[in-house]
Amino acid sequence: MKNPHLRYNGFNEVLRKKFGQKISRLTLNLNLTCPHVDPITGNGGCHYCNDDHLLGKSWHKQLSLNKQIDYGKNYLKGRHNTDKYLAYFQNGTNTNAPTDKLLPLFKESISDPAMVGLIISTRPDCLPDDMIDALCALNSQTWLWVELGLQSTQDHVLDKINRGHSVAAFVSAVERLAAKNIRTCAHIIFGLPDESREEMIGGVHLVNSLPVNGIKLHNLFIVENTVLAQWFKQGDYTPLTLCEYATLCVDYLERLRPDITIHRLNAHAPDRLTIAPKWSVNKWDTLNAVHEEIEKRGTQQGRLYQAPS
Ligand code: SF4
Repeated sequence: MKNPHLRYNGFNEVLRKKFGQKISRLTLNLNLTCPHVDPITGNGGCHYCNDDHLLGKSWHKQLSLNKQIDYGKNYLKGRHNTDKYLAYFQNGTNTNAPTDKLLPLFKESISDPAMVGLIISTRPDCLPDDMIDALCALNSQTWLWVELGLQSTQDHVLDKINRGHSVAAFVSAVERLAAKNIRTCAHIIFGLPDESREEMIGGVHLVNSLPVNGIKLHNLFIVENTVLAQWFKQGDYTPLTLCEYATLCVDYLERLRPDITIHRLNAHAPDRLTIAPKWSVNKWDTLNAVHEEIEKRGTQQGRLYQAPS
């Protein structure tokens, strides 16, 4: 059987084909708050979110953007043997500031010739019209992606996790960005409380019906200082097993539109913050389990996709 990586439309392969070499994401941090956790305007944040876990290996957020880029380039060059990067604004909500303040920073991040593209992650309800216009301008200058958190296609699940926006808000954001030819990547989480297996897998049909270009599939993990951690300790929430997650991922991939790029198939937080499931800490174990399931079935992305008639 073909390498499992080649049984789906993986982002690394897309990058290699487009740029002719390995490209790494260089994580940058604008030190922005999330509007959903803002003490004045927010609503307490998503019940699984502890902003600390998002920091991961990102460069120190107190550094200037230029210093973060230098630091990141040195780190990635040694580790991934690459000299081309995507500027990646991953943590928090990266459109949560006035557009006239953010646009120069986004431009600065791609001014270095080593930066071949830009990824901006945000909430679907944090995209005012002037921000979409600014993204449109950036899209003409670089290879731009906007990552949008959806997490579930079920409003009752979004309510349960206090996501603070509806499925309709996501649909609207994707359509507004697509109208300007801006690529979008949807975030989906498997294992959210009160979401059935059928609802998780069935959500693929909404994604397939939208002008979405990429997707990130995540396993839900429980980190300290969250409502989800309280639910887990009280016995009110049980996380997925690794086998359940791998099965869900492959069920989903089999139904996913074949042209959609797979940006990621796992998520993890540092061991010191992860309460459960502990299998999620090792991202390679998670990825290997998904690949083994693909191999076991001899399947591929889109095998069960049904185009609308
Ligand atoms: S939108 Fe993102 S950063 Fe904001 S509370 Fe939810 S998970 Fe955390």
